[in-house]
Amino acid sequence: MNESVINKKIALVTGASRGIGAAIAIELARQGFFVVGTATTPKGSEIITKMFQFNKMQGLGLPMDVNSNESISDLITKINLDHGDISVLVNNAGITRDTLLMRMKEEDWDSVINTNLKSVYKLSQAVIKGMMKKRYGRIINISSVVGHTGNAGQTNYAATKSGISGFTKSLAQEIGSREVTVNCVSPGFIDTDMTKALSEDQRKQLLDHIPLGRLGVPADVAHAVCYLASDLAGYVTGETIHVNGGMLMI
Ligand code: NAP
Repeated sequence: MNESVINKKIALVTGASRGIGAAIAIELARQGFFVVGTATTPKGSEIITKMFQFNKMQGLGLPMDVNSNESISDLITKINLDHGDISVLVNNAGITRDTLLMRMKEEDWDSVINTNLKSVYKLSQAVIKGMMKKRYGRIINISSVVGHTGNAGQTNYAATKSGISGFTKSLAQEIGSREVTVNCVSPGFIDTDMTKALSEDQRKQLLDHIPLGRLGVPADVAHAVCYLASDLAGYVTGETIHVNGGMLMI
């Protein structure tokens, strides 16, 4: 095991090559975690490792595809052997395949359900045994405002994000007695590759509905994740922190 990592809690962030996941990885490392961030390609994972090196932080990138059981099991085994038990899991990896339901192909449905929702089941199941044994753990799932409101053209995506919310509350009840918390962070519209497809008109319309008058930045979401990962949030479980500039007030 890497000596410099002893005494550091290990955080695993899926989809850390860019956008919200990259910001979460950096912020958790800033808080003192040893962070493993994943990308789907070896090149993407090298970029994550370089990102930590550039910021003089402890962490590394590793390749992982949430749709491959072998890839998940290789990743978890490598982290456990090289660095130790995972204390914090951030299920962040996600995709969109937007289209109206009338035109949605089964593969558009399946790829979004598998990448966004089934992955949360797989990764969580892979880490909870270790967390329960240690009587410590934090699972933080990235949902979305559209999981609460719905959004035309996103039946597949919204279904995954609502699903994550129900999953989170259920797992929180299953493993709370072992001091493992399970929560969601639900972003509104955040300026990343995922929202680049919005036209200028769509952006303008969106801003009219955001009291804070701007799209979020990835760090806005990362700060909420860091709170839930911290010891300050030890008595918070089954909850959702909404980070959306006020566009949805529940
Ligand atoms: P993004 O910029 O498109 O990045 C997506 C990340 O997921 C990338 O790191 C990507 O890795 C990874 N990924 C994609 N498919 C994967 C797979 N099969 N296995 C493992 N990793 C995979 O997205 P983002 O905007 O940062 O979104 C991050 C999370 O926040 C998602 O769950 C998204 O639904 C949620 N969210 C975003 C917004 C928003 O406005 N942006 C709003 C609400 C919720 P590669 O780089 O290797 O492809």
